[in-house]
Amino acid sequence: MTTALLQALRSAVGDAQVLTHEDPATDLSAWETDWRGRAHGRALAVVRPGNTDEVAAVVKACAAAGASLVPQGGNTGLVVGSVPDSSGTQVLLSLTRMNAVRALDTANLTLTVEAGCVLQAVQQTAEKAGLLFPLSLAAEGSCTIGGNLATNAGGTQVLRYGNARDLCLGLEVVTAQGDIWHGLSGLRKDNTGYDLRNLLIGSEGTLGIITAATLKLHPQPLARLTAWAAVPSLDAAVALLGLAQRQLGAGLTGFEVMGQFALSLVDKHFSALRVPLWRESPYCVLLENSDSESEEHARAQFERLLEAALEQGLASDAVVAESLAQARGLWHIRESIPLAQAQEGLNIKHDISIPVSRIPAFCVETDALLAREIPGVRLVNFGHLGDGNLHYNVQAPEHANAADFLRTQESEVNRLVFEAVSRYGGSISAEHGVGSLKVDTLPHHKDPVALALMRSIKTALDPQNTMNPGRVLTR
Ligand SMILES: Cc1cc2nc3c(=O)[nH]c(=O)nc-3n(C[C@H](O)[C@H](O)[C@H](O)COP(=O)(O)OP(=O)(O)OC[C@H]3O[C@@H](n4cnc5c(N)ncnc54)[C@H](O)[C@@H]3O)c2cc1C
Repeated sequence: MTTALLQALRSAVGDAQVLTHEDPATDLSAWETDWRGRAHGRALAVVRPGNTDEVAAVVKACAAAGASLVPQGGNTGLVVGSVPDSSGTQVLLSLTRMNAVRALDTANLTLTVEAGCVLQAVQQTAEKAGLLFPLSLAAEGSCTIGGNLATNAGGTQVLRYGNARDLCLGLEVVTAQGDIWHGLSGLRKDNTGYDLRNLLIGSEGTLGIITAATLKLHPQPLARLTAWAAVPSLDAAVALLGLAQRQLGAGLTGFEVMGQFALSLVDKHFSALRVPLWRESPYCVLLENSDSESEEHARAQFERLLEAALEQGLASDAVVAESLAQARGLWHIRESIPLAQAQEGLNIKHDISIPVSRIPAFCVETDALLAREIPGVRLVNFGHLGDGNLHYNVQAPEHANAADFLRTQESEVNRLVFEAVSRYGGSISAEHGVGSLKVDTLPHHKDPVALALMRSIKTALDPQNTMNPGRVLTR
């Protein structure tokens, strides 16, 4: 069966695009290892189709042979969803060769691209046309639009423009049966039944393969200014967010929060970055104001906002970036937190969301709970406060062996954090998805009726369990 399947795959995409372990000189580890190096799978083959018909032929071959498929884009996902398991029987379907721009419609404000287009290339294509594709995340130089949509990625601009879901008008998809759904509409209104596009977005490759998408573009703002403020507490940060929303309206395109320990790690491991104001306050926030009038207007608005914040005690100090380079530098500090955290050692990551109003109480309670139950743990807390999304990560006590800490404490830390998340009406995965990392945890926190409906959908669309089995749902 394996030989017949490999033969069918080769005739679907050509010999050169089917890579296997049969050839000892071929190294498949880049496709078989996840970004954080937590999972090392073994694929039967890595298959790299060049167009949608080839994807359909690959899916048909796998379905006929009873083999399962794992779609992969940039392989930057953080929940172990894009690498094969260790069975050596799964086909890894890499979409990266499918990276063409199919159409740009500036009047309709849409861009149609293939799934393997790297996010940064999509942003640049929009920019060249004087437009904005606002999805933005630290992995944008490697992640692909197909992966962004399959995970419904968030990032730093959700506050204003929404998640990947809100930036997509149409999809082209290969179903689990190998049929092609031609759904690349650029329509903003289409009430003709169930919303298949939104079903596929966020399905993490478990319902179908996204081969192309029609994306929603926005006008480029004329000016973008960034400010950094030290705030005395999380309550103050939430109040400052409210003030910024009232004063800047739709101009507020980013509002990030960073805890003091998170910033101390950037200062320690990347001292050249010169982190401002972190020593004097438990939290700092990063704000972005995008303006369609002028830079002067944006600056005046920002200055009014920060003056009010200082007067009301919501901030103790603040700086506004004087140039684009300074603004990039401030964002770079924020984006360096995960790297600084990795330099400090292995850690336990949580990507959670809580209603914004409840975040301060959640942190006070959960910080204290963790400190009591696991003395010495260090909290690397930062995230997209404007979206109620925290990366509430737990680092081993200083001088402890981080690998031992993970082995002995990870499940207890997760239990404490996720139970607190549920008590506060939050989600255990705000933007990274479920993958296989959270597949066993999800049933403890998701409404049972919702889970049963998800299972029914999976069974209806993929009865053979061909598509990324063991991810999002277990059978
Ligand atoms: C440094 C760093 C920062 C990050 N920051 C953020 C952030 O701010 N916000 C955020 O949301 N995420 C973030 N991520 C996570 C990651 O970048 C996103 O999940 C991204 O959307 C994944 O895209 P990808 O192309 O790498 O997908 P992959 O990792 O290849 O795949 C992710 C999932 O999508 C499926 N998939 C991939 N392509 C397709 C397709 N064409 N059709 C169907 N299924 C497919 C895979 O099977 C897998 O389940 C970050 C990651 C890193 C490394």
